[in-house]
Amino acid sequence: MAYDPQNIFAKILRGEIPCNKILEDDWALAFHDIQPQAPIHALVIPKGPYVSMDDFSQNGSADEIAGFFRAVGTVARELGMTDDGYRMLANNGADAHQEVPHLHVHLFAGHDLGSMIKKFKD
Ligand code: 5GP
Repeated sequence: MAYDPQNIFAKILRGEIPCNKILEDDWALAFHDIQPQAPIHALVIPKGPYVSMDDFSQNGSADEIAGFFRAVGTVARELGMTDDGYRMLANNGADAHQEVPHLHVHLFAGHDLGSMIKKFKD
């Protein structure tokens, strides 16, 4: 899938739409999810135009990949997630219900997060 520069996270990166910012550096922007699904629900996105983890892992430079994942870890620490634990999730494509076609990692924390994934059989 080609990158759509009009996606909502591209607009947030360009400052055309506001966000509740947590961290910004050369490689990543982190902000609070507009519809939190846990007491703390952060999103971390790379600065570059990558649709998904599939795109980023193939086409991102080593510096972009390292910088992005360091930012993910920094955000978790800065939000105090590391003591009690947190969940990191990236939806990729249709079966995962990826809504926004700019790579983003969700960070959830602040209570017991329950089972890892919908069960597909008992
Ligand atoms: P996905 O399903 O693509 O993994 O998750 C997209 C996430 O982006 C959802 O959790 C949704 O609430 C969040 N989101 C969508 N639009 C906005 C927005 O304009 N601002 C913020 N902060 N989050 C958004």
